[in-house]
Amino acid sequence: MSGEQSHHGHPHPGHPDHAHEHDHPHGEGSELSPIELRVRALESLLVEKGYVDPAALDVLIDTYETKVGPRNGARVVARAWSDPAYRDRLAADATAAIAELGISGRQGEHMVAVENTAAVHNLVVCTLCSCYPWSVLGLPPVWYKAPPYRSRAVAEPRAVLAEFGVALPAGTSVRVWDSTAEMRYLVVPMRPAGTEGWSEEALAHLVTRDSMIGTGLARDPAGASAGRP
Ligand code: FE
Repeated sequence: MSGEQSHHGHPHPGHPDHAHEHDHPHGEGSELSPIELRVRALESLLVEKGYVDPAALDVLIDTYETKVGPRNGARVVARAWSDPAYRDRLAADATAAIAELGISGRQGEHMVAVENTAAVHNLVVCTLCSCYPWSVLGLPPVWYKAPPYRSRAVAEPRAVLAEFGVALPAGTSVRVWDSTAEMRYLVVPMRPAGTEGWSEEALAHLVTRDSMIGTGLARDPAGASAGRP
């Protein structure tokens, strides 16, 4: 692959800043917000004065991007897999069901949980910018904010999924959900076979960030050393 169009993993290595590339008609992100400007200014100052190491900041950001955030979502999914009543509440009012676990989102943000089945695979995108369920997934991955994903997820979702290594059965249709500042989506991946009787904690280890965006599936329990109960 040439690399230009590829966006699984870490695309656009030389183009990390998507903050000012387009207008933003629905509420966040294109222009830097006052808070973002202050954060950026503080980071520059701290680095300049030698108080923080940029590499340490990167580690912190990575922690939020890959650990803290997605773990919240993974708890939600594991609970839904384990507790049919919770799963129903999640389907009926995801914002409230997520709050039950002590996870709260930003004001005005409504969460919708969309569950994958053998018939339908859900995929989340924000075609206009990078609206993303921060409270459950943490920081969005770079590719989520990149124009190729934003445009192609809608136009050719199966090709995009294939690039992420997801091959769906022919009988499974793909439904694409376009996030906005008002509505954010959490994909509930299918529970892997062979996990009967697993604890919620063990199940949560099978739930990846990408599986909750729809660009991945839950981990294969046979390959997960996370452990049975
Ligand atoms: Fe957006």
